[in-house]
Amino acid sequence: MPHQHPIQMLLTKIKALAQAYKAEVIANRRHLHANPELSFKEYNTAEFVAGKLREIGITEIEQKATTGWSALIKGKNPEKKVIALRADMDALPIIETNDVPYKSQNPGVMHACGHDAHTASLLGAAKILHEVRDQFEGTIKLIFQPGEELVPGGASLMIKDKVLENPRPNGILGQHVMPLIPAGKVGFRPGLYMASTDELYVTVKGKGGHGAMPETFIDPILIAAHMIVALQQIVSRVANPKIPSVLSFGRVEALGATNVIPNEVKIQGTFRTLDEPWRAKAHEKMLKIAHGIVEGMGGELDFEIRKGYPFLKNNPELTARSMDAAREYLGEENVLDLDIWMAAEDFAFYSQEIEGCFYRLGTRNEARGITSGVHTPTFDIEEDSLEIGAGLMAWLAVSELSKD
Ligand SMILES: [Zn+2]
Ligand SMILES: [Zn+2]
Repeated sequence: MPHQHPIQMLLTKIKALAQAYKAEVIANRRHLHANPELSFKEYNTAEFVAGKLREIGITEIEQKATTGWSALIKGKNPEKKVIALRADMDALPIIETNDVPYKSQNPGVMHACGHDAHTASLLGAAKILHEVRDQFEGTIKLIFQPGEELVPGGASLMIKDKVLENPRPNGILGQHVMPLIPAGKVGFRPGLYMASTDELYVTVKGKGGHGAMPETFIDPILIAAHMIVALQQIVSRVANPKIPSVLSFGRVEALGATNVIPNEVKIQGTFRTLDEPWRAKAHEKMLKIAHGIVEGMGGELDFEIRKGYPFLKNNPELTARSMDAAREYLGEENVLDLDIWMAAEDFAFYSQEIEGCFYRLGTRNEARGITSGVHTPTFDIEEDSLEIGAGLMAWLAVSELSKD
């Protein structure tokens, strides 16, 4: 037999284990998919995860943020380095329309963002890592978090509950399914990757009355229209053109009639960007412009900005090393470069604290019609991808621990 470097032998071993445990990872994913729970209500899911961890033989498990867990797998020389692996566990308020044996049994709730796949993959990675724990140095911290889909984000609560302490990880890896990428491939982006999101709730108040006598009233619709147009200056004139920014209003509600000027207009929107100082400045500017227009036209304004997740930055070095490790596992042609994505993800909270790498697991299978986007009632994944979901994650962690 040709001589193999120990780390290469470990790679071969992890691939073999990922293949051996694939059926179990798929079964776990199907169990989770059939039993979805909403954000911060993942009670049965958390119990299921803890049961599986104990079954694997992992004993150092700590409850965090009510329905989350942090668990440790210690290799040789456990103090050498700590790498955290994260999965989110919550589902969405969507009615599943897929006709599959593992269809949601919890009406109106659906794993439509693939968090079932993330949780099952991390359980698979945990089983692999526990089995090879005498073949690597350092410690793996497993993070199973609640509530990714709902502000303030489970990640922020896990951090408040000290998930990044004792021991503090040197870096954290997270994966997310991606129905745009074919199963068998993964995607990475070093540096800026996803946006911060803030929700905007605006009420423009005027004084309603008969549409024939506008001079007697204060028309909140005209004021709101001016305000919406003026606020686009934030993106077109105030923002640094080098920093991506989006301001979208998706809901305008004015309940008048052909001849009725209403008392008020309610508006909802979202502001997204990739820079924290600019985000704060944009909030200030938005309020200033909106107040100026609305009050200048005689109306009153209530403008609430509900802060969501921060922007997500992948640590360039950790991400470059992870890409190299992924190429070793999957081959050059199966590791893709991703573009910036203006969606948000609460993994961003971790990556603001420690070095982070958030990457994408391809789950598309056009031949089988698995192409629906996340957050849709027809979303599903090619389950073959879960072998990579578990095995690659284990390999990325071990590979990172092996580097000084
Ligand atoms: Zn989602
Ligand atoms: Zn998600």
